[in-house]
Amino acid sequence: MNSILVTGGAGFIGSHTCLSLLKKGYTVYVLDSYINSSPVPLQRISIILEKENVKIDDKLTILKGDLRKESDIKKIFEIALKKNKPIEAVVHFAGLKAVGESNKKAIKYWDFNVLGTISLLKVMEDYDCWNIVFSSSATIYRPKKNSLMDENHELGPSNPYGVTKFVIEKMLNDAFRSNQKWRIINLRYFNPIGAHPSGLIGEDPLGIPNNLFPLIMQVAIGKINEIKIFGKDWPTKDGTGIRDYIHVMDLAEGHLKALEFLINEKPQICNINLGTGIGTSVLELIKTFEKINNVKIPYVFTGRRKGDNAFVVADNSLAQSNLNWIPKMNIEHMCRDGYLWQINNPNGYLK
Ligand code: NAD
Ligand code: UDP
Repeated sequence: MNSILVTGGAGFIGSHTCLSLLKKGYTVYVLDSYINSSPVPLQRISIILEKENVKIDDKLTILKGDLRKESDIKKIFEIALKKNKPIEAVVHFAGLKAVGESNKKAIKYWDFNVLGTISLLKVMEDYDCWNIVFSSSATIYRPKKNSLMDENHELGPSNPYGVTKFVIEKMLNDAFRSNQKWRIINLRYFNPIGAHPSGLIGEDPLGIPNNLFPLIMQVAIGKINEIKIFGKDWPTKDGTGIRDYIHVMDLAEGHLKALEFLINEKPQICNINLGTGIGTSVLELIKTFEKINNVKIPYVFTGRRKGDNAFVVADNSLAQSNLNWIPKMNIEHMCRDGYLWQINNPNGYLK
């Protein structure tokens, strides 16, 4: 399998994964509408590869298009056919991901995430392409007590965004049941943060971020005054919430391993957690960021956020055994690389 369609390839995780795919010699087709991104990260990928002396020739093809339109998806499949390098697998990132917005605009999330995926699967069937790696999320689990979550953990998303991921996984299950040509991996990401160590690509949230790490980065460069920590009385070691932060480059590598698994194994559908298996509290993340980057991150404690959880950490043993994937980067690497990206690009990709 050499030719891969990456939907949402200009986004945060998509751009880092495109970089890893190209570096490994894959031919990459990107379909992105830029609703939450721009063409710039894809240009930056070429700069990084040039600096690393990796020649990609014409291995990167980019099409601006909307996944909800079958005609746009067909266009990229046709381009690939004309190049004599038909798309053999899809890594499917495209979708909307803001939990808060999904509470207010649920139908928009069903439209982009669910309808977009239905269009994609229909076109894949038409073009005899049966391999897909889907960006799912740990948000589909119903967290319980302070224990690691494996793939059999009870499901129960608590917001429309999570519900769309849950429903897409169900749909992919039905797709496999109805036609056993499919090879499907649902990758359930925990908390991706950090950036490529070059500082050229990274996370570029629109407006004021909601997630902890982009907020810390913006406090670090003085764009935001302080972090408001949501609660100091959680049943955790220091009273603040614990998450499983994972470096975006390790996550990108997980997609390459997932593609290798798809080619080598029999047709199937499986769910795999991508997390480090290590929990980090809000205070630990702030302290590590301060130490490694020699900056001050002021914070205050406020009340708990509605619907929040104390402890969300992966049991990643399935990824280790099935994909032979072991995350290499720790919290210090994540804080170092994230900060380099943010100081080099205080306004994200906008000049
Ligand atoms: P992102 O918003 O940076 O990237 C998504 C990309 O998809 C963007 O470039 C956007 O323009 C594009 N897109 C959205 N709708 C589209 C459409 N209809 N047609 C074409 N392009 C479209 O998000 P990300 O952080 O890179 O996340 C990628 C995927 O991983 C998403 O599906 C997200 O739900 C999932 N995920 C992300 C996280 C996280 O914390 N970042 C965690 C778990 C799962
Ligand atoms: N958090 C916080 N202040 C913020 C944003 C997040 O204290 O402004 C905490 C939140 O309660 C959780 C952790 O940081 O314990 C990670 O939150 P984030 O929203 O980044 O990820 P998610 O909760 O979706 O896993």
